Amino acid sequence: ESLGELVISRNKKFTKPETTLIETLLCGVVYPLRNALLYQKAVEAAHKDPLTGVNNRASMDEIIDREVNLSTRHGSELSLLAIDIDHFKKVNDTYGHAMGDCVIKAVAEASKAAIRTSDMVFRYGGEEFLILLSNTDRAGATLLAERLRQKIEETCIICDGTHVSATVSVGVTCMKAKDDSRTELFSRADAALYQAKSSGRNCCKFFSAED
Ligand code: GH3
Ligand code: MG
Ligand code: MG
Repeated sequence: ESLGELVISRNKKFTKPETTLIETLLCGVVYPLRNALLYQKAVEAAHKDPLTGVNNRASMDEIIDREVNLSTRHGSELSLLAIDIDHFKKVNDTYGHAMGDCVIKAVAEASKAAIRTSDMVFRYGGEEFLILLSNTDRAGATLLAERLRQKIEETCIICDGTHVSATVSVGVTCMKAKDDSRTELFSRADAALYQAKSSGRNCCKFFSAED
């Protein structure tokens, strides 16, 4: 098992006792280093959704709180997208659970591909995702939501040789400049998503408390 490479150098050649000492010290470092790397992997795994590889709900609470606080403190723009796959139960009922999982993965992949590295995707529930867009205002968030919705609509999802298509509804909202909170941000995104569903699905709706 390779843990990496450590280069120790100096101008003067190492003497035999020095080389022995370095080797002894290295033996003492290998196990703690391996444990640290295993620990790091375990922490990463605890924050990821195993099906899609995006951030899971456990990591969401921590990250969203931090981003909302940053936005409040610095007055920076922050937008939230709530995405829900349309008539997903029908996919499961018609093609089975495995196809349902394929569709969830395809939506996660499209979401990851649509965002910048500073943005984050979370699997919020079964077929629901959240995307947090830092330094992004209403116009930017709406543009991205619409681009993502369109991309998913156009994607042909293939699972075990069967082709299927899916659509999503998206609720979009932004942090208000004053007197806003994470709870209110969430409930606006949720209300916008509800609006998108009741407007016939496969669309994006924006909810603003400042309108
Ligand atoms: P709507 O357009 O209103 O969102 O309808 P919908 O059918 O998508 O919504 P509903 O909430 O009724 O159904 C969601 C379904 O998602 C129900 C559940 O069986 C399924 N589901 C939840 N998690 C998973 C999962 O991890 N894999 C699969 N294959 N299905 C899941
Ligand atoms: Mg749902
Ligand atoms: Mg749904």
